Amino acid sequence: MSHLFFHQERRYVKPFQIYGNVYYVGDSWVCVHLIDTGDGLLLIDAGNVCATPWLVQAVWEAGFRPNDVKWIVLSHGHVDHVGGAEFFRDTFGTKLYMAEADVRMFREHPEFSFIQDSPSVLDRVFEPDVCIQDGDVLTFGRLKVQCYLVPGHTEGCVALFFDAYQGEETKRCGYYGGFGFNTLTCEFLEEMGDREYHMWKVYEESLDKVMDQPVDIFLGNHTENNRTLEKMEEFKKDPRRNPFLDREEWRRYLGQKKEELHVFRKKQLEAKGRR
Ligand SMILES: [Zn+2]
Repeated sequence: MSHLFFHQERRYVKPFQIYGNVYYVGDSWVCVHLIDTGDGLLLIDAGNVCATPWLVQAVWEAGFRPNDVKWIVLSHGHVDHVGGAEFFRDTFGTKLYMAEADVRMFREHPEFSFIQDSPSVLDRVFEPDVCIQDGDVLTFGRLKVQCYLVPGHTEGCVALFFDAYQGEETKRCGYYGGFGFNTLTCEFLEEMGDREYHMWKVYEESLDKVMDQPVDIFLGNHTENNRTLEKMEEFKKDPRRNPFLDREEWRRYLGQKKEELHVFRKKQLEAKGRR
């Protein structure tokens, strides 16, 4: 897995404005979003481990100061999303938010965060400042963020909804903190103590829970979720048409994940039958 952490410079993406006060400061694989709340900056996720220098550079290059990052909300507790969290807290006093279930995972089963796969001996799990609970409305400066717990990829994945502003216009952003099936194989679930693969149902219920939310802008957790980089290229070519504005995409993508989950589940059970 270590290939995911080396040569971060090759993954660097020049930061760009997605819409109004929402900017992209992530790399070509792991998304990080910066929201200018009007009174301090919020980051959604903290980037890959070993990518922190490039995250700091991206915040500067987007036209902001890293020491204005007051809050980081972590989508879930995997090593590729929490990389810069402690650095920001130690250096700038940034407050760290994560869902309770993954705070517990850090305490009791840090190995499920894959922190041991980081090539840096300095990386470790940590204690966030605030545990996010289901239904929380968090206030960051002038921004209000509606939070829901969407367990599945990990037990502590969060979905976030908030309004972005561009002049007088408002658009609702939707973010889903973790889609990968890598933690849903029979083998992995058994290792986690889930011998009846209950997590498949949990994952599906989480999709259903937020599927009907009205979303104008679907923000990715990884760039492949919402074709972040392709949209960035399209946007550059024709700045009059913002490809991030798409009212269908949220529902379409979550629906697609549901179907993929059914196929995945079937294949997993078939493979298990052959064992
Ligand atoms: Zn993950």
